[in-house]
Amino acid sequence: MSAAEAYTRLVATLREHADLAAALRLLEWDQETFMPAGVLEDRARQIGLLAGILHERHIDPAFLDLVDDLAGRISELDDGQAVDVGQTKWHSDRARRLDTALIRERSALHAEAHGVWIGARRDDDFNVLAPFLERIVAIERRVAAAIDASRDAYDVLLEGYEPGMSVAQIEPIFCQLRDGLLPLVERLAAVTAKRPAPSALRGDFPVAAQRQFNRTVAARLGFDFAKGRLDEAAHPFSTSIGSDVRLTTRYDAGDLRYALYSTIHETGHGLYEQGLDAAPRGTPRGESCSLGVHESQSRLWENQVGRSEGFWRFLLPVARQFFPALTDTSLAAALLAVNEARPSLIRTESDEITYNLHIVLRYELERALVDGSLRVSDLPTAWHAKMRHYLGVVPDTDRDGVLQDVHWAGGAIGYFPTYTLGNLYAAQLVCTVERTLGPLDALLAAGEFDALLGWLRQHVHHLGQTYRAPELIRRATGEPASPQPLLEHLQRKLAFLESS
Ligand code: ZN
Repeated sequence: MSAAEAYTRLVATLREHADLAAALRLLEWDQETFMPAGVLEDRARQIGLLAGILHERHIDPAFLDLVDDLAGRISELDDGQAVDVGQTKWHSDRARRLDTALIRERSALHAEAHGVWIGARRDDDFNVLAPFLERIVAIERRVAAAIDASRDAYDVLLEGYEPGMSVAQIEPIFCQLRDGLLPLVERLAAVTAKRPAPSALRGDFPVAAQRQFNRTVAARLGFDFAKGRLDEAAHPFSTSIGSDVRLTTRYDAGDLRYALYSTIHETGHGLYEQGLDAAPRGTPRGESCSLGVHESQSRLWENQVGRSEGFWRFLLPVARQFFPALTDTSLAAALLAVNEARPSLIRTESDEITYNLHIVLRYELERALVDGSLRVSDLPTAWHAKMRHYLGVVPDTDRDGVLQDVHWAGGAIGYFPTYTLGNLYAAQLVCTVERTLGPLDALLAAGEFDALLGWLRQHVHHLGQTYRAPELIRRATGEPASPQPLLEHLQRKLAFLESS
């Protein structure tokens, strides 16, 4: 078989994998949105079966031989084909080094620990979860060693979420970010201590009108409803069923901001997915680059666009058409309400200025767990010490502390940094966009989002996995990933809050 024929066969196989994965995601999407509660067991079985079939396909010897054969003849392929083969080889090498027994043990542990975490959080009892966390850390170390025993375990885990990223790259970035944020948070605490939470955008906003409003916002930003939907879920998320992109949000009839910013965030993810369309379906060039890059797209639209003055010059008149109660709400009041910030305990409810310190804290703790310098039993104490140091607030309970996130109980160690990488990529991309298109505020105020979306399509979306995240960012912005644009953005935000 010629290399060209083998490549054609590879693409056909990858498309089948993608279609199976899409069917799986449709079942999962339905479970989180419309599925009646009484059929949970049936659905779990259906999802388990399909996931098993997909895993068998991924480690099928005929498929792995095809990938190895092509990887050995990569010089016979064109550049794009070589990307597809190289990326497929990288993913399948990671998968095949984990034997089936280890994978089964790991997923059984995660399933059990997830249930235990729910109970531990409800009862505010860290000691119930601790033995499971010990086993999870141990098994993640074994996973890392199985994939590549010669490298730092945390690096191997991190790379599973952000390929191409390493502790050597992240460490100086996170240190600089942390040192830059600490004085900002101190100033923020001084500002907010004497100010009540802003009341604009809170009140009575009927959910029916909010549904129309949020749909309008997503469409105006560029989301294509001919190939997607916006529905509701308890924990908003987005997913792709092939080229069909499903967004979810959650409505609070007493606060316009909640659904709006969930919708804009998920729309950012959705625009990225819809922008991957240009590449051959099912191939790595047609898949998103990394979790960090994915998050950069959601945070860019949510924070850099959605909380800016320009955007609100556009949005407030639109919002008034849906909610007459906003007639008397001023631009200044709305801007203050959507940029509200203060040091707090819960990561998912925190603001732009303090958010990344919640992540730095988790990154430092999980690294120490993996390298053995921190014991699981000492985690709550270490959590409190870092909260006091970084944010100046300390939780009274572990429920509002170390038990608040599901990630570690689900075995996701090395995942947290992708949130902050997303924030800093977003700020860096916007800096570059403004050098090319001029100040975004003017475009946003005019409701013109096409130029920004077009730039992102060209420099991020259309590339899929052509480059790994660090290289993608370097090519798009001309600089390696840096915390500086994000710090400058947050300094401007703080100055706005101090002067309001
Ligand atoms: Zn997200």
